[in-house]
Amino acid sequence: MPQQLHPTQEIDHGAPAIEVRDLHKSFGDNHVLTGIDFHVDKGQVVCVIGPSGSGKSTLLRCVNRLEEPTSGQVLIEGIDITDPETELDAVRSRIGMVFQQFNLFSHMTVLRNLTIAQQRAKKRSRREAEEIARANLDRVGLSDKVDAYPAHLSGGQQQRVAIARALSMDPDMMLFDEPTSALDPELVGDVLDVMKTLAAEGMTMMVVTHEMGFAREVGDELVFMADGVICEEGDPREVLAHPRETRTQEFLSKVL
Ligand code: ADP
Ligand code: MG
Repeated sequence: MPQQLHPTQEIDHGAPAIEVRDLHKSFGDNHVLTGIDFHVDKGQVVCVIGPSGSGKSTLLRCVNRLEEPTSGQVLIEGIDITDPETELDAVRSRIGMVFQQFNLFSHMTVLRNLTIAQQRAKKRSRREAEEIARANLDRVGLSDKVDAYPAHLSGGQQQRVAIARALSMDPDMMLFDEPTSALDPELVGDVLDVMKTLAAEGMTMMVVTHEMGFAREVGDELVFMADGVICEEGDPREVLAHPRETRTQEFLSKVL
């Protein structure tokens, strides 16, 4: 079904996947983001690190307008999602999001968790939705769990189901907010492996993470946030080995 977008808001295939311009976000008196500029090119993996409370989740949530920016612009493939004319649902449907808490429906099987949004938002038939769901469960190594309920899965398996669910909506890009932070250490690797495979397949990804190994190995760009601004950014290997800013050095000395 063609997406009904405002005439001036057609997808610009030459534009960056995500572009953020002078983004500010306040909650009451709390000025959480104070002028953020960055972009994510198609096929790029950008990792975002920084202390707790620095605004990483708020930034990610502004990118698909789960939070309303106070000012500034967010462009998704050239379409300004802060413009009131923009059909938010059409843009949002191109962005997959994975949270620290997996947010699966506990009373539904894994398969149903993957088909429900496809049937409702994508208007797919049950049969087609199930076919796509099975293919994506296979991608994350969980084809044998179609009939399981979330409570019977490990945290790592639940997070892989959440990733498969997001993929079933055919997103052009994926946002991850600390996808492995709630997991027992031995379960982190399987989730990171799935994310590495996605990156290798060319998925555009923005990943808030504390996994510096992942950032170093998979990231094309590393963004260090502190107090609502981007304090330093660059090649992950370079930033992690030779941080320029004192704030970055202090943060990395605590986490590395
Ligand atoms: P991070 O993800 O880097 O830990 P957050 O973006 O979650 O940081 O939070 C940044 C700041 O914004 C914190 O001071 C937090 O209390 C505040 N904040 C986040 N979300 C809300 C909200 N919905 N309402 C009020 N304050 C919020
Ligand atoms: Mg956060």
